[in-house]
Amino acid sequence: MKCKQLLVKGKAKSVYSTDDRHKLVIEFRDDITAFDGGKKDVLKNKGNYNAEVSAFFFEYLEQNGIRTHFFTMVDPHHMVVRKLEMIPLEVIVRNIAAGSLVRNYPFREGAPLNPPLVVIDYKDDARHDPMLNDEIIVALKLATPAELKKIKKMALEVNRLLSSLLSDHGITLVDFKMEFGRQGKTIYLGDEISMDSMRLWDKKTGESLDKDVYRFEKGDVMAIYNRVVQRITGPVMNK
Ligand code: 5GP
Repeated sequence: MKCKQLLVKGKAKSVYSTDDRHKLVIEFRDDITAFDGGKKDVLKNKGNYNAEVSAFFFEYLEQNGIRTHFFTMVDPHHMVVRKLEMIPLEVIVRNIAAGSLVRNYPFREGAPLNPPLVVIDYKDDARHDPMLNDEIIVALKLATPAELKKIKKMALEVNRLLSSLLSDHGITLVDFKMEFGRQGKTIYLGDEISMDSMRLWDKKTGESLDKDVYRFEKGDVMAIYNRVVQRITGPVMNK
């Protein structure tokens, strides 16, 4: 599969057209950013780590009935995906209170959220990704009520599947962000699911195993990403 034209360059990934009009190639770059791009670095192998974990999750989710955009990897940082009309929503599922939920609302950090919360932000850097509600999403014609219902159902199912997989590897899925797209009437899970878009805590020690290590300078972030990839894609340890 050959990359033809650069279509979009995001903060950490680039998207290319290919010689097949139904397929795109996503390049996972080594750029890492936080705080709306206020903190940036280039960290060797970061793209590979996130691509490998994303591909692993997409394959696992497909095997469990979730439609994703994933086709295959071309090399360790180029992924072939289905071309979708992306929906500009950041769909976040939260199992434990952390991050902006604790900053903005009177939740105690670490408090379990049962049932999990689905929080949807508007993907718009210039507006700092403001939180939406169903009425605003429909009024802005970002998604129909039927699509929104489907997206929330898929988001909770992905959460159930990934929480269980990660738990088997000794990791708590605290929260994570997904993006969805449509092709015709079908909704697919798109973008990536990686250490950049998840909050992961070690089940035993509570140690952060995700981009919070970079955000808050908690240690050697690439050493941790590398360890997380080995843990997630390796044999089950904590059944
Ligand atoms: P929070 O709202 O607490 O900052 O983030 C909740 C979860 O969604 C975290 O796991 C965080 O990594 C992810 N998330 C929220 N917004 C973004 C974003 O713009 N980009 C990425 N990659 N992840 C996000």
